[in-house]
Amino acid sequence: MALTALDIYKHLPKTNCKECGSPTCLAFAMQLAAKKSTLSDCPYVTDEAAATLDSASAPPIRLITIGDGGRKIEIGNETVLFRHDESFYHPTAVVVQVSDELDQAGLAACAEKIDKCEFERVGTKLTVDGIAVTNDSGSAEKFAAAVKAVSSKSELPLLLVSASEEAQRAALALVSGKKPLICSATVDNHEAFGAIAKEFSCPLAVEGDSLEVIADLTQKLVAMSVEDLVLNLKNDGNLGNTVQEQTQVRRYALKKNFRPLGYPTMAFTSTDDPYQEVAEAASLIAKYSGIVVVKGFEPWQIMPALTVRQNIYTDPRKPIQVEAKVYEVGAVDDKSPVMLTTNFSLTYYTVEGEVEASRVPAYIIVIDTEGTSVLTAWASDKLTVDDVVEVLKNSGIADKVAHKKIIIPGYVAVMSAKLEDESGWEVMVGPREASGIPKYLKTAWSA
Ligand code: SF4
Repeated sequence: MALTALDIYKHLPKTNCKECGSPTCLAFAMQLAAKKSTLSDCPYVTDEAAATLDSASAPPIRLITIGDGGRKIEIGNETVLFRHDESFYHPTAVVVQVSDELDQAGLAACAEKIDKCEFERVGTKLTVDGIAVTNDSGSAEKFAAAVKAVSSKSELPLLLVSASEEAQRAALALVSGKKPLICSATVDNHEAFGAIAKEFSCPLAVEGDSLEVIADLTQKLVAMSVEDLVLNLKNDGNLGNTVQEQTQVRRYALKKNFRPLGYPTMAFTSTDDPYQEVAEAASLIAKYSGIVVVKGFEPWQIMPALTVRQNIYTDPRKPIQVEAKVYEVGAVDDKSPVMLTTNFSLTYYTVEGEVEASRVPAYIIVIDTEGTSVLTAWASDKLTVDDVVEVLKNSGIADKVAHKKIIIPGYVAVMSAKLEDESGWEVMVGPREASGIPKYLKTAWSA
C-alpha cells in the first residue's frame, strides 16, 4: 500500500526549513503522498529514511523509454485508472511488426512506408511510434540483417522480437545505441535475457502465462538490477482476457502499489483479419496497453488506432486548441473577407470547413480564448472588444487586405458597435452557426 502523508512525515527531519519549496515538513509529506513532489527535493532526509520512503516517492508505474534521440517511445508513469479522474500522460505507442523473412528490398520498403505514415487531425500530427522486427526465420543472421535494413531506413524506435539469445546479441551488436526493446524474457530465458539487457543497457519485455508468473519474473530481474521492464501480456485470441489482465495490472499498480507489476504493459494483436485487427488495437489502446503491436500498416488500418489514442490521451481538462494567428483558406488576395473565430479546435475546424465549402477564399483570424468556443469565450471575458482591436492592430491583417471589414460570429453581434468605434473597422455580423457561412459569403460579402 502507498504510504500516507503521516507515514511519510514520521521519517522527515521536522525542521520546517522550507528548502523543499513547501512551508512545512507536513506540507511536503502531503505533496509526496499525492506524488506531486519527489523525495530528492528535501536535502536533509537520511539514507535510511529515503530507503523506507522509496515506495512513496517512486511512481507506481515506472516510466520506460525505448529509443534514443528525437523519436522515442515513453510509456508508463500513469497515475489514474480513469481519464476523468485526471489525465493519461503517456500515449499508447502504436508499433508495426515486420518479419525477417521479407527480403532486404521488402524490409526497406516497409520501413520507409511505416516511417512516413502520418496524419493530421484537429491540428495535431499523428504518427506510428515504432517498428517491431520479428525473428520468424529462426536465423540469427537473417534477424540481424533485417534489423539493420529497417534501422537504415527509419529512425523509429525498434522492438527486437526473438526468443533466441544469439539472434538478440547479433541484432543488438548493430543497434544497441538506439535502445531497442528486447522482447521478451520468459521463465526459460530470463537469466540470459536479463544479462543481455544489462550488458546493452536496453529495456526488456517480460512474458509469462499468468500475472503471477510475470510478477515473479520482474522480481528476479530487479534483483539482477534490470529495472526498465515492460509487461508483455499474452493475447492469444481471447481479447476479453487480455483486456482484463491489462486492467488488473493497472489496478494492482495504482491501487495496491504492487511493485512487481508496476510497469507499463504491451500486447500484440492476435487476429489475422485486418478489419478485426483495427477493433482489437482500439480495445487495447482503451484499456490500458502501453504498446500495441499491429500487423497492418495501410493508412485505413492505422488511422483508427491513432484516432482512438488521440481521443483517449487528450487531457479532459484542456480543450484541444489551434494556434492563435491569421489563417489563409484558399487563394486569398487583398479583397478576401476577414473572419473572426476562437482557438477551440472544433470551432476553428468547423469554420474552416465551411469557408472551404463556400469556395470563397478568406482570412480567418483566430483569437486565443484558452480553447473555448465563441459563446463561452464571450461569457467568460476571454473574447473581448479589446482583444479583437489588438489582434486587428498587431496581427498584420491590415497589410494583407485593401479593405477594413471584419466578419464576426453572429453569437457576439452585441460587440459590433463598440468594436467599430474602437477599431475603425467596419463590422459585419456573420451567421450564428458555421453552417450558414457558405451562403453568407456568397450573398453578403463584397470587399
Ligand atoms: Fe522539512 Fe526537508 Fe522540506 Fe526542510 S526541506 S521543510 S526538512 S521536508
